[in-house]
Amino acid sequence: TVWCLGSINLDRFYRVPHIPAPGETLAARELTTGIGGKGANMSVAAARAGARVALIGAVGADGAWARDRLAAWGVDTRFVATAAGPTGHAIIAVADDGENTIIIHPGANHRLEAGPLQAAFAEARPGEWCLIQNETVLQAEGARRARAAGLRVAYAAAPFTAEAAVEMAPLADLLILNRVEMDQLQAATGRGPDAQGVATVVVTEGADGATGYDAAHPGGLHVAAVPVEAVDTTGAGDTFTGYLLAGLERGMGLGAAMGWAAKAGALMVTRHGTADVIPNFSEIDANFGA
Ligand code: ADP
Repeated sequence: TVWCLGSINLDRFYRVPHIPAPGETLAARELTTGIGGKGANMSVAAARAGARVALIGAVGADGAWARDRLAAWGVDTRFVATAAGPTGHAIIAVADDGENTIIIHPGANHRLEAGPLQAAFAEARPGEWCLIQNETVLQAEGARRARAAGLRVAYAAAPFTAEAAVEMAPLADLLILNRVEMDQLQAATGRGPDAQGVATVVVTEGADGATGYDAAHPGGLHVAAVPVEAVDTTGAGDTFTGYLLAGLERGMGLGAAMGWAAKAGALMVTRHGTADVIPNFSEIDANFGA
């Protein structure tokens, strides 16, 4: 099982002719809603990759639909608590030219308490992975509890803050970040990806692929991107990370897991949307070979 401690959001996409200017009131042409949040997205990606996944998080009293949908997609939601206040949500304005602006209200994601962590890790088996990102609270506590239970900790340092990354790095066995985030971390610490004090660091590089650094590959193990026609890059990183963890959980080596994740990320950027369109493993095989 991959134990994902992370956020669950309701994403509301409003199609607008242009991004509203300060003071402007604008009617949206269309509204679509879906599940979002990095925790939910990465959990769905790992589940579509074929892994057993349990999500540890919190929704509001209005969040039963989110729990139901995640469960229908194969994510174990027994450790998703119901907290006071609204479910986390994002208000996303998408203009005709593709530009967007986003307001996120963390809501219940910031009301996560230690109880579900404790309950989840009591069931976890040593050696399994715990995946954490930056859109909830209790990241460091979750990582410490996971380690105490014998789990390996992966930290996806997004949305990036240097402060959180510096706090989490010593608690992580695997650090995953994109190139911009790696540059910010390097600026904050003065250390490159091979010297962050984490056993494995994976840097995703968009259309250039990804590079992994570990003891066997201190100079970096590069995996090329799969060439595709990108139409929407949202969710590529979350999809890559979910597949990477599913691959590692299955016992793949770093290079093989990164290669599989790169195929999933490539297929994802050919699609509009987020959690609902994250590809499953048979689609990866059908498009790019096993
Ligand atoms: P993030 O969304 O976190 O910024 P990236 O943009 O680096 O993450 O994308 C994650 C992974 O998805 C990349 O490492 C790559 O394997 C794949 N990917 C992203 N964009 C493309 C693209 N345009 N073509 C092919 N693969 C892509």
